[in-house]
Amino acid sequence: MSPHSSVSFESLGLPRQALDLLAKVGFQKPTPIQALAIPPALAGRDVIGCAATGTGKTAAFVLPMVERLAGKAGARALVLAPTRELALQIAVEIERFGAGRAFRATTVIGGLSLDAQAKELRHGRTAIVATPGRLVDHLERGSASLGQIDLLVLDEADRMLDMGFAPQLRRILAALPPRRQRPRQTLLFSATMAAEVTEFARGHLVDPVRVTADQSGTAAPRAEQRVYLVPQTQKPALLLALLDEDQDSTLVFTRTKRRADRLARALDQAGHAVARIHADRSQGQRRQALDGFAHGRYRVLVATDIAARGIDVADIGHVVNFDLPHVPEDYVHRIGRTARAAKSGRASSFASPEEHDLLRGIERLTRQPVPRAEVPRASPIFQAALARVAQNPLPPERSKRPQRPAGKRPHRGPAKSADRAPPSTGKPKLVGSWRPKRRR
Ligand code: ADP
Ligand code: MG
Repeated sequence: MSPHSSVSFESLGLPRQALDLLAKVGFQKPTPIQALAIPPALAGRDVIGCAATGTGKTAAFVLPMVERLAGKAGARALVLAPTRELALQIAVEIERFGAGRAFRATTVIGGLSLDAQAKELRHGRTAIVATPGRLVDHLERGSASLGQIDLLVLDEADRMLDMGFAPQLRRILAALPPRRQRPRQTLLFSATMAAEVTEFARGHLVDPVRVTADQSGTAAPRAEQRVYLVPQTQKPALLLALLDEDQDSTLVFTRTKRRADRLARALDQAGHAVARIHADRSQGQRRQALDGFAHGRYRVLVATDIAARGIDVADIGHVVNFDLPHVPEDYVHRIGRTARAAKSGRASSFASPEEHDLLRGIERLTRQPVPRAEVPRASPIFQAALARVAQNPLPPERSKRPQRPAGKRPHRGPAKSADRAPPSTGKPKLVGSWRPKRRR
């Protein structure tokens, strides 16, 4: 039921004021999820919205929220999001579409002063945008009151549950007025419809309208995907070789904070402008990294999944899965960082032999094989980096696995064809793809 392309924001029932703001921010047409979710949300229904990352889910709930609650006193809307970055971005979107409507938001996230937030909460702005952990802190201190909430939004519900926020969510839901006392509307958004999400929705939504703009789990369609089958020890060299092929701004995912740190250092040493974000970085450091990346001060941003959740930088040209994610759904989220809205981009994944099962999991979820690309072994950059990295290997991907010390490796030496390497075309040579193997 993909909406016809002639659907306009006007036809969704949005009033003049909203249409003017949309024109001002340059949204010409609703995205499919917006076209599907806005009308029932405006009508006050509970909505479950499922759509891939980067398809405009934020405006799909912010626009109806503003329409339904603008001008009302007190904290009427509560938006829960899994990460600080995402919460901040939602707050920005609320500022955008609440402009001139006396609709403002208080952001309640970890890493910032509880007291300052408590003070802001006392102002009773129309919306509270929060990460679950921090909101529970405020509930416990008595500095947040949810007695007037009419609209609850659960953004990235799959992720919040994945991250283990179920107890906090239950605690928060228990602090809302009971429905028979104060009927409330709930909008739940998710990139994937994992079983826990469906389960959670069954318990907390009332007769929801379900809208799906994309098959659950479908990878962001505009990203050109490929995977390099490469040993763990050659990943840094491969990344350096790929970075040398173009000037695109590049977001690199590693699986651990430690690997993010080490990789960022290696890239920095190789002369790249690189920033990093992960859970051990302070709010200020993350902000600085994200801003620098968004404004082109850093070409490369190295991130772990959790920290990268809310990154919304319009022109990320290249997403690199330096390590494959443990959870296949994260692959969808990661590559959704490129090819956002009208842009297109590419996503390269590095799969070491021990990650092949993870790769199969991803292919099962997205229901398509990821094309294999050839590792540019003849590239001089690759060869030089290999030699350099051998002296300073990244920490092992899996500490349990005994690693052969770099020095004891059979010496490969630079490829003889190094100086005859074909000029890079920016496109890797594809070496075919295999179908995901069926599990016995
Ligand atoms: P999601 O939450 O689904 O991952 P976002 O709400 O973050 O996606 O939107 C992704 C990007 O698309 C943002 O930069 C947003 O400003 C932009 N966007 C959203 N809706 C539209 C639209 N109707 N037209 C153009 N750009 C849009
Ligand atoms: Mg979103």
